[in-house]
Amino acid sequence: MNGHPEPAGGGETAVSPERRYQEMLGAGLDLLDQGVTVFDAELRMVAWNSAFLRLLDFPDSLARPGVSFEDFIRFNAERGDYGPGDPLAQVAERVTRARSFQPHVTERIRPNGRILSIRGFPLPHQGFITVYTDITEQRRAAEQIARHQAELEEHIESRTEALTRANEELTAAIESNKAITQALRRSEQRLREITDAIPAAVAYFDRDWAYRYANKGYAEWFGWSADQVEGRKIQDVVGQEVFEVVQAHVARALGGERVTYEYQLTGRDGSPARARSTLVPDVAPDGTVLGCYVHSVDVTEQRRTQAALAQAQKMEAIGQLTGGLAHDFNNMLTVVIGNLVALKENHPDDPLTENFVEPAMHAANRGAELIRRLLGFARRQPLEPKPVEVNELILGMSKLIRRSLPSTIAVSTASREPCLVAMVDAHQLENALLNLALNARDAMPNGGELRIESSLEQLGIHAAADLEVPPGDYVQIAVTDNGMGMDGSTLARVFEPFFTTKQFGLGSGLGMSMVYGFTKQSGGGVRIRSRQARGTTVAVLLPRVEEDAPEALLPAGREVDAADLAGKLVLLAEDDADVRSVVRMQLAELGCAVVEAENGAEAADMVENIPAIALVISDVVMPGVMDGRALARFVRRFRPDLPMVLMSGFAESHAGGPDQDADLPLLAKPFTRDKLLAALRPLGA
Ligand code: ADP
Ligand code: MG
Repeated sequence: MNGHPEPAGGGETAVSPERRYQEMLGAGLDLLDQGVTVFDAELRMVAWNSAFLRLLDFPDSLARPGVSFEDFIRFNAERGDYGPGDPLAQVAERVTRARSFQPHVTERIRPNGRILSIRGFPLPHQGFITVYTDITEQRRAAEQIARHQAELEEHIESRTEALTRANEELTAAIESNKAITQALRRSEQRLREITDAIPAAVAYFDRDWAYRYANKGYAEWFGWSADQVEGRKIQDVVGQEVFEVVQAHVARALGGERVTYEYQLTGRDGSPARARSTLVPDVAPDGTVLGCYVHSVDVTEQRRTQAALAQAQKMEAIGQLTGGLAHDFNNMLTVVIGNLVALKENHPDDPLTENFVEPAMHAANRGAELIRRLLGFARRQPLEPKPVEVNELILGMSKLIRRSLPSTIAVSTASREPCLVAMVDAHQLENALLNLALNARDAMPNGGELRIESSLEQLGIHAAADLEVPPGDYVQIAVTDNGMGMDGSTLARVFEPFFTTKQFGLGSGLGMSMVYGFTKQSGGGVRIRSRQARGTTVAVLLPRVEEDAPEALLPAGREVDAADLAGKLVLLAEDDADVRSVVRMQLAELGCAVVEAENGAEAADMVENIPAIALVISDVVMPGVMDGRALARFVRRFRPDLPMVLMSGFAESHAGGPDQDADLPLLAKPFTRDKLLAALRPLGA
């Protein structure tokens, strides 16, 4: 069905081309979803399609060629399609508009609810085509979308509001939280500052052997910063070496036991350090161990001081022992040597004397040398301290040392001060340097470098206390080698007399003990730094004197020779009869007359009663109330002009402080006649 002129009759009937054309157009238009009408200039219907009739609910009968536009409008108006109002006016208005043949677009909601879009297009020779489109679905979809959109917007709006509120609440919560957190942080910070400030290492680790807390001291002790330790395992933090030692203790502590132990570790500066730790288990009320508190203290210094004290006490004891022994030996050697000399002189032409006495003399002299070195250690060798410019002395010694060392060892010297004067026995200082150089040589069998350096050291209270000397200025002579160095046990015993690591016959073990004793006796100290396979520095520190120190310290006096002594009466005070007889003999050889006393009191008696006595030679150590020094004081008071010489196996006299006899010449036992003469010379007796 369609709204076109009905095809008349059956297929066989002849059809005009015009009619055929109209049929084809009508069929084509019927295929459209949209309604289409064409009206001519007189507003009479020319063509339409079925969709038009359907969309507008026109009866088929209404659609005929030539029917007027007005008829359709009236039909609509009468059935109320245009809404309330006067149908005639509604028709008139629409017809008038149509007659203007203007393009137009309108929308109409039909009483059945469908929405139509109506668009009119004027035709070239008047008349128009109208297209009707059902846009109901389209509109509904658009409305739905709009509704959804609105809903969505509403939703979003309400959600946004809620969010904003939540946000505000959150911000407020964060603010108050911040305040709490800040307060907490502040108090934690304070706690940290306190625990960081205490001079101990404090930490806490849990059951899983992981740190929960460590103060600065604890962390730094193991080379970490405090925040690096928390969360880490014990093993990671303390290192394998320490872990192996502490492992068992940690296990015991986590078993609920309180433990204290000490361990060794390599300090941050590479030197060995010692710590004492206490682990206190953290036990929950139900008895389970939650973790452990650690408290560690650095006991390196404490142990070192204890060790140093023990060492000093040991040295002191050994010193006493060797000193006493050496004293006795000296007396014996004085007798041996004295008698051997006498024997030789009494039989000058006897070849037997030569054969027997010489080796005996030689051995006795070697014995005396050994004793001298022992006394050096015991700090009781006779010393002659004088102001000595050490740079010059070092220069002189370095020549000798260079000659005595193999060419594989390079010897160099350096001085940080142009002039360094120390109060010291120059000869013994040379001996000490030689000993140190020989030790350095032995430590560098494959060659190396030996360096002798002098400097001015200002010792503060602590450094001075370490060396057991008063604080002040010291002249330091450091002998450095890059040889094999020493291990801990060697270092601990290096100053002991007879301690040697060298093969039998190659080392006497008296070198370092001599250096030590001599330096100590000179009012100084020795510092050693040694690392295995790296080398050793031995530094000798001696009291410094100002360059323009009074010359009075130098021994002065007119030299005398044997002739001056001839015929003089000498008082000899000595408790040991054998020694006395040897010295008497030597004095006699010098042409002196001798009176003897066995002790100080006896000697004093003689000084008082024998004005002819021109010289007093006295042993220092004598039994009774008056020893050699007391006798010297007596002589000073009673006969200030009477010269006096002290003999001793010890060397107390020069270190004798402000005693009046401090500048008395001291004759070290054993001595020969020549030595005796040398001692008497400055007296101008
Ligand atoms: P000696 O040289 O006769 O062995 P010392 O008293 O001079 O006796 O030295 C004692 C020990 O100290 C030596 O045997 C050696 O083990 C050690 N020692 C001393 N000086 C050095 C050094 N410069 N390098 C390495 N070890 C040294
Ligand atoms: Mg040596």
